[in-house]
Amino acid sequence: MNQLIRCVNCDEIFLKTPYDQWPEYRFIKDRPAESFWTIAKDDFRDFLKIHRSHKLEDLKILEDSIISEKDYAEPVKVSYFKATNGREKFVIKRFRENIDEPLRYKLIPGDFSLKLINIEIQSQEIEKQLKREIGDDAISQKKIDLFLKVYRRIIEAVDLKNLERVPEESHNPLEIYFKMDDITLSYLLRNCRNIFKNKEFSDIEDFVYRHKDDGVLLLKATYKIKITEIAKSKKRATLAQTSLVVDKKIAGKK
Ligand SMILES: [Zn+2]
Repeated sequence: MNQLIRCVNCDEIFLKTPYDQWPEYRFIKDRPAESFWTIAKDDFRDFLKIHRSHKLEDLKILEDSIISEKDYAEPVKVSYFKATNGREKFVIKRFRENIDEPLRYKLIPGDFSLKLINIEIQSQEIEKQLKREIGDDAISQKKIDLFLKVYRRIIEAVDLKNLERVPEESHNPLEIYFKMDDITLSYLLRNCRNIFKNKEFSDIEDFVYRHKDDGVLLLKATYKIKITEIAKSKKRATLAQTSLVVDKKIAGKK
């Protein structure tokens, strides 16, 4: 079981895991794999040593609050999660510069939320898929462009709150895919009737039904992590004021 510990004096964080006291094995060059150094390690004891006589407290990690900017599969990335001591909220930033480094944590007093920055249709994918399925000869570029234009315009009016999320489609936590709702669907088809006739229309209608739930017609919403940092505690404000006074005194002496 992991335990998140905060030093109240320094605002530093330690995540206690079962691995903290595991030794590190270092293999010796040009020797068989069985020979290696064992280096005893105890990261938690080191943390306690640094923060001796400081006030420590446990933070509770808010479940499912973790989010990061890069793809799920990316090993080196910055992630954020939420934690609380029951009175204050914190954002914990987790990061490392390269894959061999241990993960590091930074505490930010405050909260974060996801802000929608863009919603779009997958134009290139739709175009490719239309040509592949209906055929280059059967549908003109002009009509493809018109279809994309109409779909794009309809999406401008859509409210994400009414749409169903399709989580398994995304490789990135800040890119979320949504299914169009029935109203959008019928509006799109109605507009298609003005562009496509007879066989063309039935081909397009089939295409729309084939791809509306899990294919190229899903809408892509892009989000940004917005961190709201709250003002430092009174203790720090006083400290800041004190240093301001000191600065003035020094300035006065010049
Ligand atoms: Zn400390």
